Amino acid sequence: MLMTLKQDQSFWRTALECLAGMLALGLITFCCFHFHLAVPTPTFLYLIVIVLLSLRGSFLASAVVSFAAVGCLDYFFVRPIFSLRVGEPSDLVAVLAFLMTSAVITRLVSRVRKLMQEKLQRSETYLAEAQQLSHTGSFGWKVATGEIIWSAESFRIFQLDPKRKPTLELIFARIHPDDLALVKQAIEAAAMEARDFHFEHRLLLPDGAVKHLEVVAHAEKDDAGTFEYVGAVMDVTARKRAEDSLHSAQANLARIARLTTMGELTASIAHEVNQPLAAVVTNANAGLRWLDRETPDLGEVREAIRRIIRDGNRGSEVIARIRALLKKKPTPRERLDINEVVQETIALTRVYLQGASLQTELARARTAVLGDRVQLQQVMLNLMVNAMDAMKEVTDRPRRLFIQTEVQEDNCMLVAIQDTGTGLEPAQMEQLFEAFYTTKPQGMGMGLAISRSIIEGHGGRLWAEPNHGPGTTFKFTLPAVEGSTA
Ligand code: ADP
Repeated sequence: MLMTLKQDQSFWRTALECLAGMLALGLITFCCFHFHLAVPTPTFLYLIVIVLLSLRGSFLASAVVSFAAVGCLDYFFVRPIFSLRVGEPSDLVAVLAFLMTSAVITRLVSRVRKLMQEKLQRSETYLAEAQQLSHTGSFGWKVATGEIIWSAESFRIFQLDPKRKPTLELIFARIHPDDLALVKQAIEAAAMEARDFHFEHRLLLPDGAVKHLEVVAHAEKDDAGTFEYVGAVMDVTARKRAEDSLHSAQANLARIARLTTMGELTASIAHEVNQPLAAVVTNANAGLRWLDRETPDLGEVREAIRRIIRDGNRGSEVIARIRALLKKKPTPRERLDINEVVQETIALTRVYLQGASLQTELARARTAVLGDRVQLQQVMLNLMVNAMDAMKEVTDRPRRLFIQTEVQEDNCMLVAIQDTGTGLEPAQMEQLFEAFYTTKPQGMGMGLAISRSIIEGHGGRLWAEPNHGPGTTFKFTLPAVEGSTA
């Protein structure tokens, strides 16, 4: 459809060019013949017509007019006149020279035009692609006539049909209702004083999507002395979203920073010392029960007290570490056997197991990692307590905690903690690691955020994966010490 329209247009253009060329030939022939001018004058005048036509018109029109010019030259000016015969050999040379020259001119000019057109088309394609890549459309706006010209990308940004003529009304209909008054005011104020403008606003598209745009325009006078705007519209939605999430990350960071300042440390300390404290209380109760027996079992009481001392020490280690953190002292790194750390943590969590079974599959090769023992225990403790919490409500299947360590091909130690708990939605997988994200009534949502920062501080990675069956697996890696055995 579009093709036939174009073909029709080019046919009529060529026909018009031929007609104009013929009229010019007729006029020149009439004048030169009337004033009895010799052959060279009409020859040059014909050549001028052919050059002009080649510059402006099509190759076909120039070729047709060239042949007609040869005919006129021969018929009206070369002896015998009023005949297409050529009497003198010198005249034959002149006619042939004219024919050759007009053919060369036509060919040359049409070639140059074609090259220029190709170059223009190429640069237009590049420009359109660059606009699409950068989500930037361009526009021109003649204020006096209201005429607006848009690039293809501008139509795409506004989701408007490129066949429609852009108008201010059409544009305003796309602008977010909350921004409309501001945009109108900015444009009107700028247009009154022929000033440049630069502002941001939102679009509300028919499908309900919201886009953020940055508009910049420069006012300049056109040839007629009226002024027009030349500008660009940039779709900055992706940048805006990134900025928003950066702001919310910054806000979270600020909240965390506030929490860790003196006086507000309570929340974070409470989270970390809660576990050793709970273990102290459990062991103290167990000790009391052993003492309350008719014949107190002093061996068990001694064991309970030992555990109380161990957990008490853990609590003070946690506090010492937090104090070191506040003083910005680096926590000590030592060569560790990760299996040992796992076993120590299991010993600490036995009190929480609450009927869940525990299985382990620990790596045979004793590969060492460099780390802070207490911090890594803290991470595992947190993952195991979370796993146990997730299995609390489970009644229709065995509650099973499975801990695995493995040396990976990339020379990293992998620790996996798998549960058969409630599991996670895919959307939650990353949210979990955000500070203050919790689904527990008493939760603080700090455990996984702190755990991830500890693991990343050790050069590793911590993430969650859904199980094939019910439940979740939390995994972390730590770089192994080159060629080590712990
Ligand atoms: P908290 O335990 O205080 O809620 P965390 O950062 O340790 O804070 O955990 C954040 C949230 O992640 C929990 O509230 C819970 O919804 C979810 N979660 C963590 N571990 C698991 C798990 N093993 N199974 C299911 N959900 C989990």
